[in-house]
Amino acid sequence: MADSLFGNTLVYLRRAAELAKIDPRVFEILQHPKRSVEVSLPIRMDDGSQRIFTGWRVQYNDALGPFKGGIRFHPQASREEVTALSALMTWKNAAVGLPYGGAKGGVAVDAKKLSMRELEELSRKYVDAIYPIIGPEKDVPAPDVNTNPQIMAWMVDEFSRLNGYATPAAFTGKPVELGGIAGRDASTSQGGVFVLQWLLENDKHFEGRAPGDIRVAIQGFGNVGAHIARILFNAGFKIVAVSDSEGALYHQNGLDIAAILNSQERKGKVAKNMCYPVKMREVKDDVGCEVLTNEQLLELKVDVLIPSAIENQLHKDNAENVMAKVVLEMANGPTTPEAEELLYSRGIIVLPDILANAGGVVGSYFEWVGNLQGHTWSNEDFADNLKRVMLRATSEIAEAKEIFRTDFRTAAYIVALRRLGNAIKLRGWA
Ligand code: NAD
Repeated sequence: MADSLFGNTLVYLRRAAELAKIDPRVFEILQHPKRSVEVSLPIRMDDGSQRIFTGWRVQYNDALGPFKGGIRFHPQASREEVTALSALMTWKNAAVGLPYGGAKGGVAVDAKKLSMRELEELSRKYVDAIYPIIGPEKDVPAPDVNTNPQIMAWMVDEFSRLNGYATPAAFTGKPVELGGIAGRDASTSQGGVFVLQWLLENDKHFEGRAPGDIRVAIQGFGNVGAHIARILFNAGFKIVAVSDSEGALYHQNGLDIAAILNSQERKGKVAKNMCYPVKMREVKDDVGCEVLTNEQLLELKVDVLIPSAIENQLHKDNAENVMAKVVLEMANGPTTPEAEELLYSRGIIVLPDILANAGGVVGSYFEWVGNLQGHTWSNEDFADNLKRVMLRATSEIAEAKEIFRTDFRTAAYIVALRRLGNAIKLRGWA
């Protein structure tokens, strides 16, 4: 199971279960998905040919409430990956105290190679195939990698058509016109920023440090990476490096994220042959921008490293070279257990994925509640409630960290395991 996302999350689960003395029967139940469905989706391509795509919906555990988790379109999507992500959703929803179980969906497809019509047909066929097991009270999907509000719009429309009436609460991450919330897109990143700010205010190493003195490197410039770069830049942090799958851009004095976002919008990617330093009155010894590899970005001398791309980026072969003081895990599963040991041995703090990136599902929860009640959210109410839930979860996990004298990840798993364990026992499953 070396460095498999599912194997890794079970390593973390076992560690927490042993420390908090969780009933072994609860732990055993939580090592297996409750339901795992594979579907085949025949699509008529624009050239008249037919292709069959394979998809999955894995419903991991629903002791705490209806299943909840995104749908990923990716060529390497597999039953194992979807299962691991559904387990992570279970821990995440429990750790931040949402009344949800955990699930995940995926289709093995390179969505960028499909036309809009083919993508719509695939989205609708996927819903047709899993219709019997999803719905507002059963399992509520949302966007993930390579799926977006337009895809949610097709999916909720297909579900509503099969259901016989408009059912907005069946999906979250929808366009605003169909019951979505404007701030939902950025809520994963905004939630991560609340967690980071909590740490900076509560950790003595950062006492008295202004945001402008805090150097940040961000791997990945997609939905999560670009939003967190923008929010931190606007809050005055010094973002010295950003990257996408083709490489990284670095400037020792900080990058102008607003200029990079503008350029990305025009060119469709972060152009590496341009330089976007922050505008300063006086720039001493300016050496210009440097183009780095993603591996080099991870080893930069920064205060905060934010992996926001894919899993297993910090592993046993590079963890000893990480120079950051804090790793804020915005991607799911970016650190392997072996890497984490090496980071801890050098005093590096890891803010774990199941807390750091939970803002997205918290935003989804508000959208679902609003849809069920026919209630709409103002931007202020949405932002205030997101902050309240994220800070409550962070404090609760920090408290468990102190009680059990452990790290943030183990503490987050303990909080999740206790909630899940209580619900499993009350239901009489163990
Ligand atoms: P995305 O597809 O929008 O962006 C991914 C980014 O990573 C892109 O910039 C891409 O170029 C880059 N990338 C891809 N492969 C890379 C590689 N090998 N090295 C470096 N960079 C690479 O995806 P996203 O929605 O931003 O999700 C990113 C991560 O955050 C995923 O792990 C996802 O599961 C997690 N996440 C996302 C959300 C959400 O709301 N979107 C919520 C929770 C967790």
